Amino acid sequence: DILANKIAAGEVVERPASVVKELVENSIDANSTWVKIELKEAGLECIKVSDDGDGMAHDDAENAFLRHATSKIRDENDLFHVRTLGFRGEALASIASVSKLTIKTSEGDSAGTLLRINGGTLVEKQKSDARKGTEITIEDLFFNTPARLKYMKTIHTELGHITDLLNRLALSHPEIRFEATHNGRGLFRTSGSGDVLHVISQIYGMNVAKKMLPVNKETLDFKIEGYIAKPEVTRATRSYISTMINGRYIRSIPLTQSIIRGYHTLLPIGRSPIVVLSITMDPILVDVNVHPTKLEVRFSKDKELFSTIEGLIRDKFREITL
Ligand code: ADP
Ligand code: MG
Repeated sequence: DILANKIAAGEVVERPASVVKELVENSIDANSTWVKIELKEAGLECIKVSDDGDGMAHDDAENAFLRHATSKIRDENDLFHVRTLGFRGEALASIASVSKLTIKTSEGDSAGTLLRINGGTLVEKQKSDARKGTEITIEDLFFNTPARLKYMKTIHTELGHITDLLNRLALSHPEIRFEATHNGRGLFRTSGSGDVLHVISQIYGMNVAKKMLPVNKETLDFKIEGYIAKPEVTRATRSYISTMINGRYIRSIPLTQSIIRGYHTLLPIGRSPIVVLSITMDPILVDVNVHPTKLEVRFSKDKELFSTIEGLIRDKFREITL
């Protein structure tokens, strides 16, 4: 089934940042309290993700690389109540089919497992040392898909995508301690204190954190909370607007637009605000199964949500200028 996995990889594994996303989300799903990300050459040479999460038993570890092997969904009904970040069970199989992958994993109590998979083929399986958690190393990404490799942009661009992603994952999980390095140099680290404002100051700097205003609002359907920057600190791109639904970082153009509308005339033309908003709603109201990367979502009550967010931001600035 190596071919099927390579085809699926085309959808899930677009670039190094997609690999980082799937691995770190798996670490989060496994109840980790710290996650370490080590990159070489923007992940094209090496991506290593270590965590202190639940780990996997010996047989489960091998099964995790089969297509549609997920421990997170048992039946069709679960699809409508997804609370974990992953659920399709295709990421590990896809990544393993286009790289050289090593996994060390242990549930802590018994001996751990070491597997080496080369372009989708299992080449080594043995017991290993038993630190609780999982460590996955991806080397030579796309070594067997030269066409994909050709699409890669510069190291600078690829690293930008990864940093962007890691920032958002850290912002959506302030309770997890993240450490990220590139070519041995620190990218950022967060403390895992649980305080979003603290994460904002750790990734965007203290001067930005000082300019953030807390917002929160609860309606019958949604609970919205987070921080919005005063209009005096703006950025040239929208990548400083982070939106989370039920703990999952998502991308929604209309949602972002409703945030910008909330700033109204306060924002200089061509500038974007810095915003971190976390939205909680009944999972039945949001469909995350629109696209394999699960970044795009569909809302059942989209108009209500967008106008609530716009109003929340407008009211905040009305309140502080009064
Ligand atoms: P999904 O996340 O959609 O279930 P994946 O292919 O990403 O599918 O992972 C397959 C399975 O491997 C997961 O369901 C989980 O049981 C296991 N797994 C993957 N990464 C980890 C990890 N870091 N810690 C513990 N279990 C993991
Ligand atoms: Mg996953």
